[in-house]
Amino acid sequence: MGTIGAMQETSKIWMNGELVDWADATVHVGTHGLHYGSGVFEGIRAYETPRGTAVFRLTEHFERLANSAKLLYMELPYSVDELKSACWDLIGANGLPECYVRPIAFFGYGELGVSSRGSPVDVAIMSWPWGSYLGEEGLRNGIRAKIASWERIGPNVIPHVAKATGIYINSMLAVLEANRAGYEEAILLTHDGYIADGSGENIFVVTDGVIYTPDLSASILPGITRDTVMQIAQDLGHRVVQKNLIRTDLYLADEVFMCGTAAEVTPIREVDDHPIGPPGPVTVEIQAAYLDTVHGRTERWGQWLEYAPAAKTQA
Ligand code: PMP
Repeated sequence: MGTIGAMQETSKIWMNGELVDWADATVHVGTHGLHYGSGVFEGIRAYETPRGTAVFRLTEHFERLANSAKLLYMELPYSVDELKSACWDLIGANGLPECYVRPIAFFGYGELGVSSRGSPVDVAIMSWPWGSYLGEEGLRNGIRAKIASWERIGPNVIPHVAKATGIYINSMLAVLEANRAGYEEAILLTHDGYIADGSGENIFVVTDGVIYTPDLSASILPGITRDTVMQIAQDLGHRVVQKNLIRTDLYLADEVFMCGTAAEVTPIREVDDHPIGPPGPVTVEIQAAYLDTVHGRTERWGQWLEYAPAAKTQA
């Protein structure tokens, strides 16, 4: 989880259709999601660009939230379009040109049987300023990662394609273990020993000029940054191969990096005390292209930036 400080409070939180004061966005202790981790969430970033605030791949994030809900048999009371517009209302209300956005939907206060039938679905969206997840220093010089002793949950344990809250006990244990041992991030393996993902990032490996990343079947979250990186890399002329990887592929790689909405593109300079080296040329090129894209400094992948509805009509 890296080196983040206390959360910076903002003015409003969108909750069940209304903008409420930050302090008033509370739930009852009998909330189903609190007891059983029965929620789904997203992590989204809004960036300041020359054309105003833009949210990176906003539609895809809410579409993934809808898919996550479906996998938990949860009926979201709002459509993707309604959630997108709620997100813009919140960003407008909090007045930050750049922020992290965290939508969450969870089974609320109703019955406390494990079966979620009988529990209402609550939906909230928070936004607050959040710097680079693995630190500025990590973004520039790379981080040290450790393979976790905790396996990534398998596809028949909990649907890993869902960004479900309960799954994050798996990530939490892995990153705590890594942090306590002095590493910045954990890398989880599947039950079969293949590389899955970091506690909150997907993994990429560069060897002999080819870029590899675990296949979706390796219990990974289908990351939106992963998809972005694969498309950017291909457009820049690189070969990208999705396949099962084992831990020695990391130890012997020319370059390793991780990516996610929060972590953006963060180089890995060491895995399990095997030096990989300072950020290599492919990592540096992709990181620069990614950061230029999200900040609106290049038009090449501009289709992924979504602007506030008002800004769109002015443009
Ligand atoms: N894997 C896991 C386990 C994650 O939690 C995340 C963060 N959502 C990612 C990968 C990266 O996903 P994204 O690029 O969509 O943020």
